[in-house]
Amino acid sequence: MKRVAVFPGSFDPVTQGHYRLVVDALELFDHIIVALGVNTSKTCMFSSTQRLGFLEKTFQHLDKVTVDSFEGLTIDFCQAQNAQFILRGLRNTQDFEYEKSIAQMNKKMNAQIDTVFLMASQDNQALSSSILRELIKNNKNVDPFLPEHLSYEDLC
Ligand code: ADP
Repeated sequence: MKRVAVFPGSFDPVTQGHYRLVVDALELFDHIIVALGVNTSKTCMFSSTQRLGFLEKTFQHLDKVTVDSFEGLTIDFCQAQNAQFILRGLRNTQDFEYEKSIAQMNKKMNAQIDTVFLMASQDNQALSSSILRELIKNNKNVDPFLPEHLSYEDLC
């Protein structure tokens, strides 16, 4: 049976941290679906169409990775995609505390689906989409923090 993982997030915008996490996880899974969670009550810097475009540019060269979007619960999306795993990244203990309760609730809702956590690589532990948004707002070139196939110009 193919091992399929969903990597959900808001990706506002996708960072080198997200990208590296997926590349690291390719050793564990046959297929990773990077899934943009469209949350209508959350205000984002980039529209869902833009964020999806950034994700496509980032991951299109990787055969085992596809990009998709969903509304509603991650667990329902996983079930619809026949994914057995949810992939999430951990940068620090705050991430851990936040992720722990979500993973526990997801497990209660569907015991067949497990959350797999990978540690952010050391270089990316301080990197977040919110820091990137702050830099972008202040016209700083964020190229060093973007995935290899995405550039600051793509965001403007
Ligand atoms: P969400 O709003 O669902 O937290 P994000 O796009 O902020 O969406 O993050 C999606 C996932 O990527 C989360 O599991 C988060 O912990 C992880 N992540 C975010 N930044 C990094 C990073 N720099 N390195 C590794 N994982 C990260």
